[in-house]
Amino acid sequence: MDAKTRFAKRITSLPPYLFARIDEKKREALSRGVDLINLGIGDPDTPTLSPIVESAKIAVTRPEHHQYPSYEGMLSFRKAVADWYRRRFGVTLDPATEVVGLIGSKEGIGHLPLAFVDPGDVVLIPEPGYPVYHAGTLFAGGESYFMPILEQNGFMPDLDRIPEAVYRRTKIMFLNYPNNPTGALATDAFFEKAIGLAARYGFILAHDAAYSEIYYDGKAPKSFLSYPGAKEVGIEFHSLSKTYNMTGWRVGFAVGNPSVLSGLLKVKSNLDSGIFQALQEASITALELPDSDLDALRSLYQVRRDVLVPGLNRVGLRAFAPGASFYLWAAIPKGMTSEQASLALLEKTGIVATPGNGFGPSGEGYVRFALTVGPDRLKEAVERIRTQRLFGA
Ligand SMILES: *Cc1c(COP(=O)(O)O)cnc(C)c1O
Repeated sequence: MDAKTRFAKRITSLPPYLFARIDEKKREALSRGVDLINLGIGDPDTPTLSPIVESAKIAVTRPEHHQYPSYEGMLSFRKAVADWYRRRFGVTLDPATEVVGLIGSKEGIGHLPLAFVDPGDVVLIPEPGYPVYHAGTLFAGGESYFMPILEQNGFMPDLDRIPEAVYRRTKIMFLNYPNNPTGALATDAFFEKAIGLAARYGFILAHDAAYSEIYYDGKAPKSFLSYPGAKEVGIEFHSLSKTYNMTGWRVGFAVGNPSVLSGLLKVKSNLDSGIFQALQEASITALELPDSDLDALRSLYQVRRDVLVPGLNRVGLRAFAPGASFYLWAAIPKGMTSEQASLALLEKTGIVATPGNGFGPSGEGYVRFALTVGPDRLKEAVERIRTQRLFGA
């Protein structure tokens, strides 16, 4: 590469793409005609709920939606978000100052550090975890401090192990419950402690709640903002992607502390120009859907979870039943690495699963399965692992 096309350090310092080898093997298997069962990606396999699509069809034809949208989102969209928050979580939000529309929550998560992090500032990041927290921090010139989330702590970071000197330099702590990749929920005591630390050391708590609606056994997780003092210290990110099967539409939002949101908006207004208004109209329809529509979606995942968790446990893995999210985190037998397990699954059974270390070093020893195929295919997957005796059982 000649000098002018040499990438900037902020790009080259990104962690290597650990899924590249799995992707290559996947392509090879596909070209050999292997009947793949893809449990690798976190993208719902069923279409966007139809009232949302119908609403979008009409909205797209309206010329007033063809112009630039406002940066923060239409007031009607922000009101629909606030109404949904009151209905779903019992949390009151001012749509004018406490809600900002996002072009998918990934966008907001990635941009947040640009608004608040200077070189030398620390961002606390759960590990294993969603890669965007670290990428956004790197792009802002900040320093990531990784907080391991371990099985023995219920997949919550041990906040007492973070040195005082690190807390003092911290600008943002990212948290993500229901958690990707583990499917774990956090306790009230954990959230209360994190909020207390944010207040004491003066950092922003940014909670990513992308999976709050994909829950099981009728046990709906709380919003971070429903804890006392939360709005004083932080914001919550949400997404329509997983809740309504809308990953391709790119609609999300951030809610909570108005000063934090105004910083985020300052970055956004310089880099993007808001969400296509027709999609905001369709998103209002989504947020106003009756709960029964989402119950149907939750039942679909519950059936799958209840096939795959006991199935994997019978064939030598130790799978955790997620409290929410459509991921299943499974411990592999000792003596095998995450990458070996994923490669063996792919080559011997045609099952695509993500190696846990791809989400961070503490994910070593685990693989992640996404519940994005039907129950018959999941049974087939378990049967293939059993026949091959892949994990000893
Ligand atoms: C999928 C996902 C998101 C982002 O979703 P968007 O489609 O960008 O709204 C954010 N956080 C986690 C943990 C996710 O898994």
